[in-house]
Amino acid sequence: MLSSAPKTNHLTPQTIVAAVRDVLGGVERAALHEPEFRGAEIAYVTDCIETGWVSSVGSYVDRFEQMLAELAGVERAVATVNGTAALHIGLLLAGVEPGDEVLMPTLTFIATANAVSYAGATPHFVDSEPVTLGIDVPALDAYLGDIAEVRDDVCVNRKTGAVIRAVVPMHVFGHPTDMVALAALADRWRITVVEDAAESLGSTLGGKPCGSFGKVAALSFNGNKVVTTGGGGAILTNDPEIGRLAKHLTTTARVAHRWSFIHDRIGYNYRMPNINAALGCAQLERLDDMLSRKRTLAARYIARFADVAGADIVAEPAGSQSNYWLMAMMMDEPDEALRDAVLEALNDQGYGARPVWTLMHRLPMFAACPSMPVEGALALEKRLINLPSSPRLAETGR
Ligand SMILES: *Cc1c(COP(=O)(O)O)cnc(C)c1O
Repeated sequence: MLSSAPKTNHLTPQTIVAAVRDVLGGVERAALHEPEFRGAEIAYVTDCIETGWVSSVGSYVDRFEQMLAELAGVERAVATVNGTAALHIGLLLAGVEPGDEVLMPTLTFIATANAVSYAGATPHFVDSEPVTLGIDVPALDAYLGDIAEVRDDVCVNRKTGAVIRAVVPMHVFGHPTDMVALAALADRWRITVVEDAAESLGSTLGGKPCGSFGKVAALSFNGNKVVTTGGGGAILTNDPEIGRLAKHLTTTARVAHRWSFIHDRIGYNYRMPNINAALGCAQLERLDDMLSRKRTLAARYIARFADVAGADIVAEPAGSQSNYWLMAMMMDEPDEALRDAVLEALNDQGYGARPVWTLMHRLPMFAACPSMPVEGALALEKRLINLPSSPRLAETGR
């Protein structure tokens, strides 16, 4: 339907501003992603305050964890202070030890690389491909063939001698990575999958929720994510023992007792306060509504940009449903100057637009980390721009 029609607009900063304005129904200003509180948020938070249960224990934490486990189709969810903390503990529970290497895309948010570092491990950067924006699995497989070998049932980097213990796929902007191909690779190379599902609550691949594929997964409920608890995160797992340990480690490793403070190892104070979980329960009750409006908004962006030669909206990969956390336009060609001109024009008009994160391997603290060639990610960095993505924007546009 769209491909046969001749494109009438060429990619310039002006045509992009006009396209975004059309999609948003003429709205003058729009942030990149705003939180939305239209349900029981005030009632549940008020309940915490009136009963005094605002802090580290309370019924909303249990309820939030149950709702999350059900939504993500996993055995257990453990709520945490933020997504970075969830990733940190997830990596520890996956067996990551100091000195290990952990494969992760260079195209991700800083939290992924920081969490690997907190575990005492070294990020080992991996390239990304332009369909899912996630790990380029065939290229990674070929690369491991060059530099790694399986020895005594673990994957060893022949160049550094370190164990490559885990791989952390990230579902960029909510679009599911090819977890089937990645699981096969991880299996063959004896590498554990820790899923960074921070951006993909509500996304599915082959009908299976993101966050249910890895041995452990991490979610985030930061203020700009689809669902927010102010700040927050969660560890997801299908392994009951890992779930029990996740709760234990995030609650200072305190042994249950009526009054004594006994801790059986060095734990972490990473639990989510009840008042944040209360906010989260109200948000999750309205997740379907928010996701359906985001799909409407995505469909409008896709249709309107079909008329722009030189750029498209990144659509959910075949066989998946994206939560469309952040809408993204992708230019046909890498062009940093044009990208920046479009960013400037959009922001001048009051539209929250931004480039992808600076690639991890280019940041000073990670510049010396091992990396496969990352030409794909370098090109994507110069092609992608995120556009206003709040669910409410589906109510003004056409
Ligand atoms: C948001 C996010 C996280 C977690 O961030 P927090 O702010 O710590 O909740 C982790 N990874 C990715 C890719 C993210 O986008």
